[in-house]
Amino acid sequence: MVAARTIHISRNHEKNKRIAAMGIISLLLVFICAFLAVCIRIEFGSVPIDIKVLNPADVSMETAEVPWNLVLVNKWHPLQEETEAEFTLLSNGQQVDKRIYPDLQQMFDDARAEGVYPIVREGYRTHKQQTEVYDDKVAAYMKEGYIRVIAEKLAGQWVAVPGSSEHELGLAVDINADKDRSDNYTVYSWLADNAWKYGFILRYPQGKERITGIDYEPWHYRYVGKEAAEQIYEEGITLEEYLEK
Ligand SMILES: [Zn+2]
Repeated sequence: MVAARTIHISRNHEKNKRIAAMGIISLLLVFICAFLAVCIRIEFGSVPIDIKVLNPADVSMETAEVPWNLVLVNKWHPLQEETEAEFTLLSNGQQVDKRIYPDLQQMFDDARAEGVYPIVREGYRTHKQQTEVYDDKVAAYMKEGYIRVIAEKLAGQWVAVPGSSEHELGLAVDINADKDRSDNYTVYSWLADNAWKYGFILRYPQGKERITGIDYEPWHYRYVGKEAAEQIYEEGITLEEYLEK
């Protein structure tokens, strides 16, 4: 009986020793991991590097002076203040930055000469108007039963969050068909092929959603000037990628 108990105690003793050893090894591993984490942080700095890679627009804007026609506005680069540009009032009440008007008018004249009839559905929007458009979209999703956080996320895929819309710059236009004489498909196709010649780019192309932060919009054109537009069109890139160069 005594012998059996001795064996039992000694087995328990062995077991405790093993548990203690495993504890020490685990602790050592934790220390090694923490040490490595600190080393990596020192190596790369405390900036979240993955975000830099995902958003190529991050780097470019801080370094050089950017001309007015290449100003980048997206969800990662919101407008700092309302634009002080001068505007041209279009015949349907929409406004655009005065500097893009001649090229816009020429583009429309040439399209019409080819039997394609575009209209500017939306031009410049004030910050207040952009906020209203965004809030309406969020409200519509909430009406469908989504909670606010989700509704905002969904709305943000279609309408730029106030401050991050190019419409607030006056350099972007939503172009649709004059429905009596053309259809949207014809207008979008013509624009996709020709807008670059007049300094406009399809700002939110298909397959570039991760870079632009906005879903494909065949109607949204942004003025960048003829030189940039030609390169962006020929290389099939976005404004973000162009500025990154
Ligand atoms: Zn637009």
